[in-house]
Amino acid sequence: MSNQFDVVVIGGGPGGYIAAIRAAQLGFNVACIDEWKNAKGGPAPGGTCTNVGCIPSKALLQSSEHFEHAGHSFADHGIGLKDLSIDVAKMLARKDTVVKQNNDGILYLFKKNKVTFFHGRGSFVKAEGGAYEIAVAARPSRPLTAKQVIVATGSGAGACPARRSMRSRSSATTARCASRPCRRRWA
Ligand SMILES: Cc1cc2nc3c(=O)[nH]c(=O)nc-3n(C[C@H](O)[C@H](O)[C@H](O)COP(=O)(O)OP(=O)(O)OC[C@H]3O[C@@H](n4cnc5c(N)ncnc54)[C@H](O)[C@@H]3O)c2cc1C
Repeated sequence: MSNQFDVVVIGGGPGGYIAAIRAAQLGFNVACIDEWKNAKGGPAPGGTCTNVGCIPSKALLQSSEHFEHAGHSFADHGIGLKDLSIDVAKMLARKDTVVKQNNDGILYLFKKNKVTFFHGRGSFVKAEGGAYEIAVAARPSRPLTAKQVIVATGSGAGACPARRSMRSRSSATTARCASRPCRRRWA
């Protein structure tokens, strides 16, 4: 596999994966690097939006909307339900399936558009001779080179040292919605 590209995109969220696909469609030789891991340690491109943001929140909203309709609106239509219940573990499992389908969809789009995907953390090594050298943590021996680099690493918040002690009480929504304790509490 070649390690020379016209464009390397660091970050495979909505900013990065769409830029990578578009650049490939415009005829550039493109690689995208993303470090997000699924529960099994495999690649999970799509960033915050796909893994813990837009997609899972709307999957859960759809489930809760169905529950709301069943509990409050069906009776107006003459539809009666006895013993309405909610299985949160199953609801979360469906949400995980929806997320996985979206991760796989992005990997498929990369393949279809000939974007080379690397799973791991990307970092700049040096700039030399009009090109950049980018290391991928998972393959340290063969850094990538590219004339153009798009940094689309998202907006994870950095904690100010003085406020770090508050983080356990007020962590970001992103981390909260994906964390195991949160899932256990809901289940
Ligand atoms: C709960 C929630 C609900 C949301 N709902 C909506 C919504 O309904 N509609 C909407 O428009 N927006 C929504 N958002 C916001 C949306 O998720 C973000 O705006 C969007 O994900 C930003 O995309 P991005 O590509 O800039 O960054 P990200 O999605 O954060 O992607 C960045 C990617 O870069 C990777 N990365 C970072 N550093 C490196 C590195 N050095 N090497 C390799 N990879 C790296 C990260 O692992 C990540 O995969 C929601 C957010 C949350 C938290």
